[in-house]
Amino acid sequence: MRDVIVIGGGPAGASAAIYLQRSKLDVLLIMKDHGTLEKTGHIDNYWGFESTMDGKELVEKGLLQAKRLGVTIVEEEVLDIENDMFGGHKFTVKTDKESYEGKTVLLATGQSKPNLRVKGFKEFTGKGISFCAICDGFIYRNKKIGVVGNKKFMSEELDTLSNFTDDIKVFTNANELTVDVDKEVVTDKITEIQGDEVVKKVITENGEHEVDALFIAMGTPSANDFALRMGAMIDKNNIVVDDKFMTNIPGLFAAGDCVGGLLQIAKAVSDGAHAALSLNKYVRAL
Ligand SMILES: Cc1cc2nc3c(=O)[nH]c(=O)nc-3n(C[C@H](O)[C@H](O)[C@H](O)COP(=O)(O)OP(=O)(O)OC[C@H]3O[C@@H](n4cnc5c(N)ncnc54)[C@H](O)[C@@H]3O)c2cc1C
Repeated sequence: MRDVIVIGGGPAGASAAIYLQRSKLDVLLIMKDHGTLEKTGHIDNYWGFESTMDGKELVEKGLLQAKRLGVTIVEEEVLDIENDMFGGHKFTVKTDKESYEGKTVLLATGQSKPNLRVKGFKEFTGKGISFCAICDGFIYRNKKIGVVGNKKFMSEELDTLSNFTDDIKVFTNANELTVDVDKEVVTDKITEIQGDEVVKKVITENGEHEVDALFIAMGTPSANDFALRMGAMIDKNNIVVDDKFMTNIPGLFAAGDCVGGLLQIAKAVSDGAHAALSLNKYVRAL
């Protein structure tokens, strides 16, 4: 089992991994791509570069530095994180290829994307709208379920939900479907979620679809998706952390854009360093 699994290879994750590795902890960094800076041409306000710096190049330099110091880096997409419900400091991080175990996890996955921005979404969150098939799927056995998503994350949720019911519709919300599914697929945009006490209908541009529950698994899971599934607190689209960068889940830390504040490289690097110092103390006290 690793001491720390860092999810994200941007300024926050790479900076944290460098500090953690130099503290002689056993670190694994998992990243799916170059993050926010991948397509950012000119960085002129980050310290230490005489000429303008390409964002992707800056990220690559950080990762090469981490590798030189001995950090193990894998390029995979994290689809789920499970934590030991009995507080045993064991996190299982599942990617599109592998499964890894860590005593702690640092989320450094950048700013979370907003969820569905449609009427009824907030109102029915927790009243039939769910973010975790494994947590809530059983409640809806033999019922009508909708799943919103278009990629591997959605198909993983679909697999779990298929254990509970056959009556499932997939809503791509007008995004390209990149995985094969053997369920009915609704490809037009969702415009509203309706219900009374609980969710009852998904309204799309071209139709109305009755559901007893709607599971959200859009695109690639972001920090907020992981937080919601594990019960970590979120405030205004940001993960809530204490002054040690730990969430309300013991052993789950977060840093960089996903915790909000100044959305800049300098702050993300600083967050990563602070989180790493706290993680070092935390892991050594376990
Ligand atoms: C257009 C634009 C221009 C900008 N210009 C500047 C600038 O000039 N100067 C400046 O200081 N800041 C700039 N920023 C802000 C800066 O990019 C961010 O503040 C910074 O990148 C945040 O770092 P981070 O490490 O928190 O997240 P990110 O850099 O976004 O890194 C997130 C990491 O998490 C990984 N990840 C996410 N989800 C998963 C998953 N499910 N599985 C595995 N890995 C995952 C990604 O692959 C990536 O490695 C700009 C931002 C934008 C959008």
